[in-house]
Amino acid sequence: MDNYSCICCGEPRINYFFSKPSRFGEIFHIHKCPNCGSESIQPLPSDDMLKDYYEKAYFTTRTERGYDNYFSNRIKNEIERVFKMNLKDIGFFSDITLANKGLHLDIGCAAGYFTAYMKSLGWNASGIDISHICTDFARKKLKLNVICDDYLKHEYKHKFNLITMWASIEHLSRPDNFINKIKRDLTDDGKLYISTCRADSFFKNVARKRWRYYNVPEHIHYFTITGIKSLLERNGFNTVKLFCYGSGFGKPGSFIRRSADFLAKKISAGDMMVISAQKARVEKRDANYFID
Ligand SMILES: [Zn+2]
Repeated sequence: MDNYSCICCGEPRINYFFSKPSRFGEIFHIHKCPNCGSESIQPLPSDDMLKDYYEKAYFTTRTERGYDNYFSNRIKNEIERVFKMNLKDIGFFSDITLANKGLHLDIGCAAGYFTAYMKSLGWNASGIDISHICTDFARKKLKLNVICDDYLKHEYKHKFNLITMWASIEHLSRPDNFINKIKRDLTDDGKLYISTCRADSFFKNVARKRWRYYNVPEHIHYFTITGIKSLLERNGFNTVKLFCYGSGFGKPGSFIRRSADFLAKKISAGDMMVISAQKARVEKRDANYFID
C-alpha cells in the first residue's frame, strides 16, 4: 500500500483498490479515499504518457465510451443531445445571472461542439484543449475561437461569465490547480459547470470493477458527490446545484437503457453528475439546491 493523499478532501492516506490494464496493456493502480470515497490512478500518469494516448488513439479509435469516430455526425448529434439536456437540468436557461450572455470558455473543448452551440446562442464563445487534432478540426472546419494549449499555462486578458468542463475534469492530473485558475478567470457572479462520472452511484456499484468509466489512464480521477463538493470548497467555490443521470445499462437507444436512464435521474442513482458552482464569496442566490 502506498501513501498518497486525497486531492478532493485532503485525507492523508488513501487505500489501494485494484489494478487494471489500459488497452495497450500497461497496468494502472486505482486507489480509493476512505473519507470521501473518491478514487484515482496512483501514481498519477505523466504528461508525456497522457499526450501519447490522446494524440494517437482517444478520439479516433474505439474506447469504452464508444467513441469509434469522434468527428462523425452520429457522435456529434449524441454529444449535442446530452449537453442540451444537461444545460436544461442544471438551470442554464433560467439563470438570470447568465441572461445577458457574455464570454464563455469551454475547457477541454475537444472538437468544439459545445463552443459552436454557445456561439449559436449569441455568446462570445471560445475553447481550449491540449489535442491538436481536435482544435484543428474546431478552427478549420467549424471556424471557432479555439486554441491548443495547456489551460494552466494560458493567461487570458479578460474574465469569463461562464466556464464549462464537460467530462474533462476526470482527465486532469491536478484538478485542484484548474479550479484555482478558474477562480481567477471567472467574473464574480460567473458560473462554473462541471460534468463528470460519479464513483458513488448505484449503477457504478452494480458494475463494480467493470464500470464503464474505468478508462485508464485517460480517466485519472473518479469523484463521489462528497469528493467533488469538497474539491470545489477547498478551492474557493460553492456548489449551487448538482444532479445525477445515466445508467450504462442495456444497449444505447434500447428500452432497457431508456428505462434505466429514466430511473437513474428519477432517484438520483446515475453514474454521471453535473455540478453548477460559483465563487464562495458570492452570496448564494439559487433556491434550488443539490440532490444528495
Ligand atoms: Zn477524499
